[in-house]
Amino acid sequence: MNVPTHSLLVALATLLLAGCYQVPVTGRRAMNLVDDKEVTKMSLGMFDDMKRRHKVSLDRDRIDQLNRIGERISKVVFWDMPDADWEFIVFDEPKVINAFAMAGGKVGVFSGLYKVAKTDDQLASVISHEIAHVTAKHVHEKLSRDLAVGTVGTVGMIGGMVAGAPGLTVDALSQVYGLTTGISGFAFDRAKEKEADYIGLMYMARAGYDPNAAVSVMEALELETAKDPIQPGFLSTHPSHPERIIQLMDAMPKALAEREKSSVRTGPILVR
Ligand SMILES: [Zn+2]
Repeated sequence: MNVPTHSLLVALATLLLAGCYQVPVTGRRAMNLVDDKEVTKMSLGMFDDMKRRHKVSLDRDRIDQLNRIGERISKVVFWDMPDADWEFIVFDEPKVINAFAMAGGKVGVFSGLYKVAKTDDQLASVISHEIAHVTAKHVHEKLSRDLAVGTVGTVGMIGGMVAGAPGLTVDALSQVYGLTTGISGFAFDRAKEKEADYIGLMYMARAGYDPNAAVSVMEALELETAKDPIQPGFLSTHPSHPERIIQLMDAMPKALAEREKSSVRTGPILVR
């Protein structure tokens, strides 16, 4: 074998090894071509920007509730996000029924979400879903795919393969997070939404919350979207809520078993 071919193979092998990760809970293997630290650094900047652009809520009850839930879930995901510097913010946006989580442990809830998430268990199901997108590195995967087809800049690629290239742009990242279009239009593909539903269900159960609340939130979303078909984000229309509900119901026995094992369980377990 001649030398250039050999070094190319070594480079490819390095890329494949370094760029592979395993999604928590599901164990799915996925490719990652972007630099974790780069994504986190940019996410932190974007979160600060969100705090400047949106009114941060001063509602004590909601802030306390979100922090109480966030603390329990962050303990459960500790090993999936060991470097997270957690921060949970309520934004005063009563028309926006949505929430998001970013690399680095930054979580935002828009106050419209309280229309469908009225209890700790229900809010925990949404937060868990959003954090699941982060631990599963769905943003990294989406960016990696975009990099592969050349729709975003090549920096942040691993291993100095493209040394000297300009960095991953904030624009590209915010597009993936869905923040450029005013939160609406944000949705991962259906497989990733369902994966986040499944992982989130296990997280909330491990944190001691009632996983049945994930179903009641989805039902409430279904009612809201019937009222107003143009709804963003967490209630993204694909996959449909009924399809997501069926998957949640399928996973419910496993989730209830996880909750049974949970050391932070507080309330009684409802057997249904
Ligand atoms: Zn989602």
